[in-house]
Amino acid sequence: MQKHKTVVIGTGPSGLTAAIYLARANLSPLVIEGLQPGGQLTTTTDIENFPGFPDGIMGPELMDNMRKQAERFGAEFMNGWVDAVDFSQRPFKITVEGSGTIEADSVIISTGASARYLGIPGEQDNIGRGVSTCATCDGFFFRGKKLIVIGGGDSAMEEASFLTRFATEVTVVNRREELRASKIMQDRARENEKVSWALNRKPLEVVAGDTGLKGLKVLNNETGQEELIEADGVFVAIGHTPNTTFLQGHLELDGHGYVIVKPGTTETEIPGVFACGDVQDTKYRQAITAAGSGCMAAMDCEKYLEGSVVHDWSETLDR
Ligand code: NDP
Repeated sequence: MQKHKTVVIGTGPSGLTAAIYLARANLSPLVIEGLQPGGQLTTTTDIENFPGFPDGIMGPELMDNMRKQAERFGAEFMNGWVDAVDFSQRPFKITVEGSGTIEADSVIISTGASARYLGIPGEQDNIGRGVSTCATCDGFFFRGKKLIVIGGGDSAMEEASFLTRFATEVTVVNRREELRASKIMQDRARENEKVSWALNRKPLEVVAGDTGLKGLKVLNNETGQEELIEADGVFVAIGHTPNTTFLQGHLELDGHGYVIVKPGTTETEIPGVFACGDVQDTKYRQAITAAGSGCMAAMDCEKYLEGSVVHDWSETLDR
């Protein structure tokens, strides 16, 4: 059985930053990459708010750079899906599907969050046939078509603006009149003449025919009438769910499944197990905050391995 001083699970900005710091501290981390190496940023286009890139940088390029930086200092990468953990004994045990069990003195969880779906009829049946959660991945297929983006957050604004590069018209459907998105992202979408708005409409069904999507059936909350908004593609941008299924019953999670850490640190309830990035962040969820918390996790972990951590959960706030 392989044994490591520290194992990082997940390779978004938090996991890779943790790996860079751990590798530079000579801790030779094993970094486990899941089904989406590089995390959510690999499905995004220009990143304009990551400091150090005045002209912006593409998401996949940023993640590739971070990975190379971690490798340069000795981080070891392994591809696999973690399907079980055992934190009840030391060393900790991590089971990777198809690759057996790995032992670790410490673990950093940075598995991020995944796109959410609405759960309405027609949605799952049409994934890959007109329904998508990734404009960067699938926008290209809708050149000259009419599209819908569902959601009112920053993701929806970003996707709507991006999709106008391909589509003739993009309609944003939001269940409320107000948008949750930041003002700058809203303004950018509103200024785009290819973006139209169907606000205060609850999505009911993705409607498809033999030759592809017809559109989205919605409930107009003002009139109480059902309407069909015609479109060739529907992009769902309604937020994310933390990737913590494999932790259930092994680590304290909040009501939404986020890992609970001691405020101001990356320590979980189990000494030696740390969490960073979107998997424990219900508030900021930015690439730069994820990277920052990855740095914190590596430093907390290093102190733990030196044996100098005093674990006190008495101050932990209820969520
Ligand atoms: P958010 O949680 O911010 O927004 C989700 C949106 O989807 C809301 O408008 C919400 O409506 C709507 N929604 C949720 N569930 C449903 C449902 N069942 N039916 C219909 N609508 C639903 O998620 P985002 O992914 O947009 O953003 C997450 C974080 O990432 C934010 O902090 C954001 O700022 C950040 N981000 C930053 C970007 C950037 O700076 N470039 C780009 C993208 C994201 P309601 O408001 O009614 O709850």
